[in-house]
Amino acid sequence: MDPNCLFCKIGAKQIPAKLVYEDDDVFAFEDINPQAPTHILICPKKHFVALHDAGAGDQALLGKLQLVAAKLATERNLLSGYRTVFNNGSGAGQSVFHLHLHLLGGRNFRWPPG
Ligand code: 5GP
Ligand code: ZN
Repeated sequence: MDPNCLFCKIGAKQIPAKLVYEDDDVFAFEDINPQAPTHILICPKKHFVALHDAGAGDQALLGKLQLVAAKLATERNLLSGYRTVFNNGSGAGQSVFHLHLHLLGGRNFRWPPG
């Protein structure tokens, strides 16, 4: 845990959030500023700055983030169209530097993203 990290603090329940999933490795919560009817952030409990901060030993954990997204998308009847996104680096729009997978659904999406 990084004591200066917002999402580490949410994972440790030091800062409140609407938690929607948790297991030993992962937690997921509602985004405070949702960009779609469903907008959930899925995080590893282990602190990574971004995807390029992970290594070969993190392969299963990274896969788990996507599988948790698929489970939540299924439970919420989003299978006609949902998006999973990692923003890596400020140039890609990352604003919280603890790796998180966005799960967005419940509306139509354009491509390419802005
Ligand atoms: P990023 O821009 O890093 O890809 O995504 C960060 C996301 O975290 C944004 O969508 C933003 O709305 C969300 N966020 C920032 N601070 C908080 C917070 O304190 N609580 C929650 N639930 N979401 C937050
Ligand atoms: Zn963190």
